[in-house]
Amino acid sequence: MTTSLPPIPMSSPDLTEAEREAVLAVLHTPNLSMGQEILEFEKAICAYTGAKHALGVNSGTAGLHLCVHAAGIQDGDWVLTTPFSFVASTNVILFERATPIFVDVDPRTGNINTQALQEAVRDLCAGGASARRWLPRAGVKGDAPRLKALLPVDVFGQPADLDPIRAVAQEFHLKVIEDSCEAIGATYKGAPAGRLGDYGVFAFYPNKQMTVGEGGVIVTDDDEAAAIMRALRNQGRAPGDTWLQHTHLGYNYRLDEMSAALGKVQVARLDEMLDKREQVARWYEARLSEIPGVETPSILPDTTRMSWFVYVVRFAPEIDREWVSKELKKRGVPNRPYFIPIHLQPYVANQFGYREGDFPVTEDLGRRGLALPFSGVMPEGDVERVCAAIRDILRA
Ligand SMILES: *Cc1c(COP(=O)(O)O)cnc(C)c1O
Repeated sequence: MTTSLPPIPMSSPDLTEAEREAVLAVLHTPNLSMGQEILEFEKAICAYTGAKHALGVNSGTAGLHLCVHAAGIQDGDWVLTTPFSFVASTNVILFERATPIFVDVDPRTGNINTQALQEAVRDLCAGGASARRWLPRAGVKGDAPRLKALLPVDVFGQPADLDPIRAVAQEFHLKVIEDSCEAIGATYKGAPAGRLGDYGVFAFYPNKQMTVGEGGVIVTDDDEAAAIMRALRNQGRAPGDTWLQHTHLGYNYRLDEMSAALGKVQVARLDEMLDKREQVARWYEARLSEIPGVETPSILPDTTRMSWFVYVVRFAPEIDREWVSKELKKRGVPNRPYFIPIHLQPYVANQFGYREGDFPVTEDLGRRGLALPFSGVMPEGDVERVCAAIRDILRA
């Protein structure tokens, strides 16, 4: 039974005339990079998050990479992180030839399991045999404990349990990089996501809660780190360097003026856009929670505000997700498995010797999770269509 209705988009940016005008206005000036727009965009992010410094960058990945630098992570260092994430959170560790050490996740949220994380930190810092059970089978350089930082991810717009993470980081003098690329606007015990570690990063790809096209932003209260990252973003130019003098080996991670102008309007509309996403999530919840075999997202009490990024459901183990996925596509409903575990991505598994079974909760969520079409501009009729299709498929 294929319908002739138009396909439902997987995600859509929420744009208005104001965004279009802001971008066009930049094109009437000669300043397309490093002008007024990025400064104003960064100021708006500081105001929204309460951060002392905000640095616009040309992707969330670039932002995380600069944080890895700022944390002083080098060749062979260890960084504790989650295998249940988008690959970029681990890639930025690999960029610096450091070793990602994974800790399995909380089955309720998909966020890193903080009890296991605390245990892992103690063991890894102790070194020797106790450390070994957390280390990957291959790819570890040397025996000495080299844990430098923790990199939790706020998965699907729900903040990780950052209080215990921060506590153990403090005890062992570790930096915390919060990957909030999926969580701008969320709050944890009332505090904004992205502000719970030493550095936080938000990403603005078109499927995120707000977009600039391609871009991201780093937030931090650390003056020294902000200065280093500002230089590295701009080809390693330190303050006082001229255009062709470079103090450090840097990158071109600059955010252009058109994107910054777009971002400024999106930040001003962020709360309104998050409310719309919340409404769409409620429409889904009301319908899907009635269907046996479908598990809707669970939001913990510490998540004082959820920032809905994607809408991921889990099917009961006896339901064949691949079959449901295919049947949904036949009915014009796109969908994606979310996530394929990072430790099982071929290049990660090869380098570090990870195997299926190493992180069972992550693998279970990866097998049962399916992201449904979702955005703040999704009409209730489309939500109904998706849910009716699921009902119909599961009845078969
Ligand atoms: C989107 C995302 C990123 C990277 O953002 P880009 O802007 O695409 O580079 C990093 N981490 C997580 C968890 C993400 O979802």
